[in-house]
Amino acid sequence: MTQQNNSSLVVEGSYDYIICGGGMAGLSLAYYLKTSTLAHQSILIIEPQEKDKNDRTWAFWESHINTFENILFKKWSSVRFGDAAGNTQVLDIGNYQYKLLRGIDFYNFVIGELNKLGNIQWVKDSVNSINEDSNFATVITQNGARFQSNYVFDSTYKLKLTNKNNHNLLQHFKGYVIQTDKPTFNPDLPDMMNFGIEQHNECRFMYVLPFDEYTTIIEYTLFTERLLEKKEYDIELKKYISEKLQLENYQILEEEFGIIPMSDEATNEFPSKHVIRIGTAGGYTNPATGYTFQNTQKRLKRIVESLEKTGSPLIKDTWFKKRFLFYSSVLLNVLEKKRIPAADVFARLYERNSPSQIFKFLDGETNFWEEIKIMYSTEKPKFIAAVFDVIKRKMLH
Ligand SMILES: Cc1cc2nc3c(=O)[nH]c(=O)nc-3n(C[C@H](O)[C@H](O)[C@H](O)COP(=O)(O)OP(=O)(O)OC[C@H]3O[C@@H](n4cnc5c(N)ncnc54)[C@H](O)[C@@H]3O)c2cc1C
Repeated sequence: MTQQNNSSLVVEGSYDYIICGGGMAGLSLAYYLKTSTLAHQSILIIEPQEKDKNDRTWAFWESHINTFENILFKKWSSVRFGDAAGNTQVLDIGNYQYKLLRGIDFYNFVIGELNKLGNIQWVKDSVNSINEDSNFATVITQNGARFQSNYVFDSTYKLKLTNKNNHNLLQHFKGYVIQTDKPTFNPDLPDMMNFGIEQHNECRFMYVLPFDEYTTIIEYTLFTERLLEKKEYDIELKKYISEKLQLENYQILEEEFGIIPMSDEATNEFPSKHVIRIGTAGGYTNPATGYTFQNTQKRLKRIVESLEKTGSPLIKDTWFKKRFLFYSSVLLNVLEKKRIPAADVFARLYERNSPSQIFKFLDGETNFWEEIKIMYSTEKPKFIAAVFDVIKRKMLH
């Protein structure tokens, strides 16, 4: 990354756009801006890290070619689901594909392209505050530099996760990339969710996404309110590798640990006239699944299209579209209150519906009649109890 080290320098400047945080959302936005009709406009990206490590791997489903298709690490046309009793089924995912993109490939590609496209300033610093008056927003960094812009895109804002009327689960996971000395994995069949492990009356599953016959990423994932002790993730991963995958000889090539908020805390993508929150900060995470990558791309493309057409980044969802947030709250309520074992919730959804319909639903792209069908397939009394609880917690407070 060609970055300016700001440790002893105080720079002041005005830009058409300032992006706070050059991670997945910030870099994606810069890329969409620079490949749009707004390419001539100036961009400043403020990011303290080098982005030279494979700090995360994004998995997501999609039914079309995406902007980063050429740098995908792997994609699959079918996936497997495993229930708590140890039964597995290959899901027919229709014209969807399950895709894997490594963080380092994304950072290298996007930063390389942005440097080629030019008119972009990088500052290696942390944002301390973003202030606003009627004309513009001012970003002040840890090193005391001040930058101004009509539009500041902020991916650094942190959700609070403290309001008890919200559902505040955490998706936390630890993963290894492992390599074996003999052909072991089926590279065409990833395990998207396998609940065939000790549940401890919680939502716990493994996913195994093989790169080839010798190498796979394997992740131990939980949707719960509290994190585990660090060593517990390793114990479960090693147990699964030895007991379920029956492997004794393997090498751990990489490790990954992550926490994604699964919360229905109200997010504010457009908190004020000159500030736009993007990525996790803007509420782009699906609260019920933790998936964020795909929605971020969709949302940012819409924002850039709006800037191109109207000069304003403001995009609006209809009131009716917001029903998907309500569905997420209901699913979170079922999981948080343990109304039904989590493994059964997902098993029943995938058994009684076409898996591609479930993907479409989780992407917020189904129509109301398709949603009724999905609702009808759930354990209705428990879900109805969750609906009432959500109304009580979120609407009557
Ligand atoms: C390990 C991991 C694995 C994940 N896997 C998936 C997945 O498989 N599929 C999926 O859809 N989602 C996944 N997610 C969720 C989500 O897609 C990622 O967290 C994604 O990176 C979110 O993008 P973002 O831009 O909002 O945040 P980030 O990518 O984290 O970017 C935020 C950037 O802001 C910078 N920053 C922070 N504070 C400041 C500050 N004060 N000033 C300036 N810069 C600052 C950070 O250094 C960072 O670069 C995963 C998350 C993690 C942590």
